[in-house]
Amino acid sequence: MTTNANDSLVEPREELWTSEGDGFERAFRPERLAEFIGQRQICDNLEIAVQAARKRGEPLDHLLLCGPPGLGKTTLAGIVAAEMDVPFEKTSGPVLERPKDLAAILARLAPGTVLFIDEIHRMGPAVEEMLYPAMEDFEIDLLVGEGPAARSIKLRLSPFTLVGATTRTSLLTRPLLDRFGLTEQFDFYTQDELTAVLWRYADKLGTALDRETAAAVAGRSRGTPRVALSHLRRIRDFAEVKGESPIQLATAEAAFHSLGVDKLGLQRLHRRYLEILVQHYGGGPTGVGTLAASLAEDAGTLEDVVEPYLIRSGLLERTQRGRVATAGAFRHLGLDPLRAQGSLFGIADGSKAG
Ligand code: ADP
Repeated sequence: MTTNANDSLVEPREELWTSEGDGFERAFRPERLAEFIGQRQICDNLEIAVQAARKRGEPLDHLLLCGPPGLGKTTLAGIVAAEMDVPFEKTSGPVLERPKDLAAILARLAPGTVLFIDEIHRMGPAVEEMLYPAMEDFEIDLLVGEGPAARSIKLRLSPFTLVGATTRTSLLTRPLLDRFGLTEQFDFYTQDELTAVLWRYADKLGTALDRETAAAVAGRSRGTPRVALSHLRRIRDFAEVKGESPIQLATAEAAFHSLGVDKLGLQRLHRRYLEILVQHYGGGPTGVGTLAASLAEDAGTLEDVVEPYLIRSGLLERTQRGRVATAGAFRHLGLDPLRAQGSLFGIADGSKAG
């Protein structure tokens, strides 16, 4: 049996649609490709894909955006919808617990909608399986009724574009990966790009930053716009208390000191990670599970949030045998790599996990 999507077979649940960040993020997100700073290659590719899809009068191919948190995946998904001039809906892998949850969303999409699924790697296997025919043929198989009376019906959907975002591409299955027409990998932002992000938001907030201060804030933002914006807001608080405008470097540095942000932009968890790896495990190799247990943190958080920037800044290596602190990490912690490793190996021998 085949039926149309607007038949009321699936109940919507409010919580399936996720909110769009806090008010600040919502208010100032760039809305067009031309306003999006950095990630030039991705923006160029999307510009062409959007123009071609619009010319053909078809929805854009399904798009997968990969990369660490805070680099602009959600923002870009919203921009794609704006550039295509179609509605934008947003949900996330963890809230889609059952196939029925996904069906409730898919069944109500207006034609052409960009459906954004954040953390798509966290969807359950049954939900993922429902997504395959939805992406490929814009239809889903839905089980209605229970027990012997249960039957499967095909539900026709309006054509839509799925934009998936993931911090962990390696956790996605091949069949899901294969169903995306476009896959883009985000990279950390350069200092100049982050400076431009800071100017933009300072302007929106009605705050002035001098050049030197903007560069210093950008340099401590771990290549990540979300971090840059969070620093900007904290520093603005410090400057406002002092009645200072534009914000001076000394004020920014005082704010960083009190927030525990060091010269490389590392914060408490990053430094604890390196300290444990170096001081308890002689610099590794050590498994991420062991480090997670020592830090009382979730291994996934370490892999998604903490490690990418440590790797990017040359402080950490991921090897087959585990995580290894580089000489740069020892130096960053104020230790001499050769001497520290020599003495630490004595203590840490036998306590290393692969
Ligand atoms: P993600 O989805 O990758 O976690 P978001 O899209 O939520 O990241 O971005 C986090 C914040 O940084 C948002 O406030 C967003 O507007 C801002 N931002 C991210 N990338 C850019 C960019 N290229 N230009 C301007 N602002 C950006």
